[in-house]
Amino acid sequence: MHYDYLIVGAGLYGAVFAHEAMAKGKRVLVIDRRSHIAGNVHTQLQNDIWVHKYGAHIFHTSDERVWAYVNRFATFNRFVNSPVAIWNDELYNLPFNMNTFSKMWGIRTPQEAREIIERQRSEAGTGEPRNLEEQAIRLVGRDIYEKLIKGYTQKQWGRPCTELPAFIIRRLPVRFTYDNNYFNDTHQGIPVGGYTAMVERLLQGAEVRLNLTYRDYLEANASAAEPDTFDKVLYTGAIDEYFGYRLGALEYRSLRFEEETLEGCDNFQGNAAVNYTSADVPYTRIIEHKHFEFGTQPDTVITREYPAAWKPGDEPYYPVNNEKNDALYQQYRALAEAEKNVIFGGRLGEYRYYDMDKVILAALNRADEELS
Ligand code: UDP
Repeated sequence: MHYDYLIVGAGLYGAVFAHEAMAKGKRVLVIDRRSHIAGNVHTQLQNDIWVHKYGAHIFHTSDERVWAYVNRFATFNRFVNSPVAIWNDELYNLPFNMNTFSKMWGIRTPQEAREIIERQRSEAGTGEPRNLEEQAIRLVGRDIYEKLIKGYTQKQWGRPCTELPAFIIRRLPVRFTYDNNYFNDTHQGIPVGGYTAMVERLLQGAEVRLNLTYRDYLEANASAAEPDTFDKVLYTGAIDEYFGYRLGALEYRSLRFEEETLEGCDNFQGNAAVNYTSADVPYTRIIEHKHFEFGTQPDTVITREYPAAWKPGDEPYYPVNNEKNDALYQQYRALAEAEKNVIFGGRLGEYRYYDMDKVILAALNRADEELS
C-alpha cells in the first residue's frame, strides 16, 4: 500500500495532522505503540465515569481558530478548573487569588494583600529572577511560596526550586480578585464523552494500527512481501529516542498513577483536583474524575499522581526544559533538520512543555505549511 504520510503517534498532534492531510485528499497510516489512540489525553469509561488515564486534561484556549476547530469534533461542557491545595491540614483556593490571600493572612481587601506581598517580595531583591524560587517569591511572597509552591514543585520536578527555570511558575495566574479560575483563557471545558472520542473523530477515515512501535513497523515492513511505501513520516515520539539517544538522553519527568475505584462513595473530595503541596506527602494531587463532568454516579474513581524519575523505556511526560537539555535538544534538532522527509512534532518531538491547545495550533500550522 502507498501512503502519503506515515504518522507515528495517535495523540493530538498526530491526529490533527492526519485529519488535515486526509481533508486534502492524502492517504495516511497512523501507528501507535500503545493499545489505544489519543496519547496522554486518552479517556476510558469506568463505573460510568470518564477517567483521564494519564492525568487530568482540562482544555483551555484563547485562540479562536483552535476553539472553533475542536468544537467541530466535540461538544465541550462548562467545566472550569478551580483546584484547591492542601498544606498540612490547611486548605487554600488556587490559583493564587484573594480567596487564597484571605485564608492565608486573615485579610479582605486587595490593598491588604498587595501590602503583605510587597513586604515579603522586597526580601527577594529586585534583579531578574534567576530561578523558580526567586520568581515565586517575587510573584506571591514567601508565605505562599513556602506553603503552596515549594513542596509541590520540588516533588513534581525532583529538584529544588532554586535549580528550576522561572518560567514554570509563570504559567499560574496571580489575581487580586476573588476568582478561582485556574486559567485566564477565554474558552475552557472538557469534551462530553471524553477526549478519546474526539480523537476518534479526528482520525475518522485513517488507517490506524495499534500496539506497534515505529521500529517494529519499519522492521516488519522491510521484510514484508509487498512492503508499504510512504512519501513522508510525521514523527511525534521523543526526538532523542528517534536517534537512538546517540547524543545522550534528554531528561523528562515521569508520573505514576495510582487509580482507585470507591464503590458506594459518591463524592470523595468535592472537587476534580486537589493538590497536596506538603513535601512529605508523596503524591502531588488527587483527581476525582466524575467532577470533570458534574457526575452524579453512585461510585467514584480517584487517581493519585506520583511524580517519578524517568529513564529510557519509561513513559516521558514532561520535558525538563533547563539550559542543559535545551542545548542538547538543539543538537538533536540539527540532526532532525538533516533527516529527509521526516517531520518532528508535538510535546515529545519538539521537546516542549506544550498545552493541548498549543499542540493543536502547532499541528494546524504545520499542516498549512506542508499541505498548501
Ligand atoms: N504549582 C505549585 N503549586 C500548586 C500547583 C502548581 O507550585 O499547587 C506550580 C508548580 O511549579 C508546577 C507549575 O505550577 O510545576 C505548573 O503546575 P500545573 O499543575 O499547572 O502543571 P500541569 O502538570 O497541570 O501541566
